[in-house]
Amino acid sequence: MQRAELEALWLPFTANRQFKDKPRLVSRAEGMYYWTPEGRKILDGTAGLWCCAAGHARTEITSAVSRQIAEMDYAPPFQIAHPPAFQLANALVKIAPAGLDHAFFTNSGSEAVDTALKIALAYHRIRGEAGRTRLIGRERAYHGVGFGGITVGGMVNNRKMWSASLLPGADHLPHTHDLARNAFSRGQPEHGGVEFADALERLVALHDASSIAAVIVEPVAGSTGVLIPPRGYLQRLREICDRHGILLIFDEVITGFGRTGSAFAAQEFSVVPDMITLAKAITNGAVPAGGVLVKRSIYDAFMQGPPGTIELFHGYTFSAHPVACAAGIAALQIYERDGLMTRAKKLEGAWQKAAHALRELPNVIDVRAYGLIAGIELAPRDGKPGARAFDVYLKCFERGAMTRQTGDVIAVSPPLIIDETEIEVLFGILGEVIRQC
Ligand code: PLP
Repeated sequence: MQRAELEALWLPFTANRQFKDKPRLVSRAEGMYYWTPEGRKILDGTAGLWCCAAGHARTEITSAVSRQIAEMDYAPPFQIAHPPAFQLANALVKIAPAGLDHAFFTNSGSEAVDTALKIALAYHRIRGEAGRTRLIGRERAYHGVGFGGITVGGMVNNRKMWSASLLPGADHLPHTHDLARNAFSRGQPEHGGVEFADALERLVALHDASSIAAVIVEPVAGSTGVLIPPRGYLQRLREICDRHGILLIFDEVITGFGRTGSAFAAQEFSVVPDMITLAKAITNGAVPAGGVLVKRSIYDAFMQGPPGTIELFHGYTFSAHPVACAAGIAALQIYERDGLMTRAKKLEGAWQKAAHALRELPNVIDVRAYGLIAGIELAPRDGKPGARAFDVYLKCFERGAMTRQTGDVIAVSPPLIIDETEIEVLFGILGEVIRQC
């Protein structure tokens, strides 16, 4: 494409001028690969953006989508519904942790997060605890870009322009990244779990439980460089929330649908939250969609008053879009039929071995991996945060591997269909490139 043709688009979370001077384009995808417009093949080390768990261009999804568009392209979601919406809700609650048996649909992870936060606030209010308005997030968290999400989020650049406009009263737990004690952990880090979670007890003491509505955490944080929960951390958060009547929300936008080796991280780490937010792989990335899984007790709390009353004044024009639902149903069928929800467990040995082999390379200061997720943390170059990792990301793309850079961390999270040879190729390219950077 010519430079002038690139101008009209404002790319999200991208250095636009730098990008437009040297654009990276992809124009086709299938299975484990992308292709550039010139026909260069790129191994997808990131499942797009944690989306395409079953790999690209799955014919079952393509057919389901085209059938649905032809049958019924759109239907309003308020005061009317369609069969695929119920089918997807049923399919989701079937694989969800026990008790999370209702689904509310959105179009993205950001909307899912804001929906969950709104449900939490409304839940306390309708039960006579209107004073519970405080939301607790975590440093280094990413919960999308809505005002709710950036309020509980903890990535400084995502908040600072809007710091005066965030939701009032929010507070943050400390992040759980402890390089000094936990560097090069395999699986869940040993140290700090209970201690980091006990910070919630201190926030409760500070603000009083009667002011706190909900705590939201990513079971494994992705956008701030793959932070795996230390042992005991999530369990302890659950205990403290229970003790004080605080709702616990797991943001599983990246961890849902097999990424950790179980359908949801909640099951993987044996901690059941009150709500789970979803997006990305819910449709294998084929159509935008998201959702919130909600505990029955929360749903039931809303189902009060005269039957003609609208219980929640919230929703989106594209909630449960029929085409997204068709894609979601087909994606879940593939995940179940092909055992993708537990495949990360089968590959864990090969994955951990390949990731931890990078440990010996220059400037690698941490490797952390869980399920089919890995983060390789690099020493910053010349005191410039992110510069070395960005170079690694660029060179990997030139060498034929899609990775993701966030700060000083290279994150990889390939489609769950990856095989052992492709794992070796992915980490092989990463290793060669890290050596040069
Ligand atoms: N929550 C988490 C944990 C995420 O990783 C993301 C996106 O990466 C979001 C929420 C936001 O999702 P979306 O970009 O679909 O709004």
